[in-house]
Amino acid sequence: MTLDNILEEIKKAQMIVILCHESPDGDAVASSLSVWHAVKQLGKEADMVIPDYSKMFNFLPGADKILKKGNHSNYDLAISVDCTDLKRLVGASEYFETAKKTIEIDHHSVNSMFADYNYVNPAAPACCQVLIGMFEYFGINIDKDLGTCILTGILTDTGGFQWGGVTPETFEFTAELLRKGVNISEICQKVIRNKTKAHCEFEKLIYERLEFFNENKIAVAYLTLDDYKQLSTDIGDDEGLVEMIRDIDGVEVAVLLKEREGLNGFKISMRSRDKVNVSDIGLILGGGGHSRAAGCFIQGNLDYAKNKIVNLIEQEMKKQLK
Ligand code: 5GP
Ligand code: MN
Repeated sequence: MTLDNILEEIKKAQMIVILCHESPDGDAVASSLSVWHAVKQLGKEADMVIPDYSKMFNFLPGADKILKKGNHSNYDLAISVDCTDLKRLVGASEYFETAKKTIEIDHHSVNSMFADYNYVNPAAPACCQVLIGMFEYFGINIDKDLGTCILTGILTDTGGFQWGGVTPETFEFTAELLRKGVNISEICQKVIRNKTKAHCEFEKLIYERLEFFNENKIAVAYLTLDDYKQLSTDIGDDEGLVEMIRDIDGVEVAVLLKEREGLNGFKISMRSRDKVNVSDIGLILGGGGHSRAAGCFIQGNLDYAKNKIVNLIEQEMKKQLK
């Protein structure tokens, strides 16, 4: 069984590296930390490589051990978490490609199964929830520190238990974590409620720039490189903005276009209320994600990217909602 293979590989390896996807969200950072704590309990040291992540997650136990670059070039084992494919391991893919053995643990339904051992459960609302099952199987003690990381991943990927995908197990696991002393209100305050000033400035811009299409079912806003240069100080400042657009009454699909430095184009974030599968739309443009939260990249200027994504969503909505 895959889990037995994974445990065996961890036990065999001397040099282990843990990696996650680009622009890592709470689940990606917390999954990396959770695996790091677990590997430590198994008596091994591992490098966690995350080239850039939001300062918001620095309170998590073990965050001071996160590295921007790996200490080695040929790891025995690379473990990827919360990542759908190799090309999303931006800034860290070299460690994966040169490792002797590779493992990936994920919860995205569209996953390219890019490792030697792939442990993917799309029924879980967060990669951290997948990890709980794995840790229980390994006999890992989920203590307060590890539990704090796990609950952070669950809370950030479910928007504080609000988005689809939350399962009865999510609450059963959470209850167990609270019994271990994990402080849920502290985590919520730090990663769900807390907003940077830059985030508030972005909110203002987005409300000013909102455009509606398809009888107000599609709502679109954008942030340019200039906005980022003038306002943003941290990689996580733009988290949660696209959800804010989706909250508008009547909106089925929310889109946020975020201009990316040096790439001559826009990262697209999509959120759907309850009917449209945005993962299918992302996939058409070489991206992916979950049915209600997905992304992709479009090269070109703002008008081009906006027209392209809006037209595609209109077409897909017609097809999907027939
Ligand atoms: P976000 O809009 O927060 O960047 O991403 C929403 C979801 O879609 C996340 O689960 C994220 O991993 C996934 N996602 C975003 N962009 C891409 C992409 O370009 N490719 C794939 N495969 N998944 C993406
Ligand atoms: Mn995730």
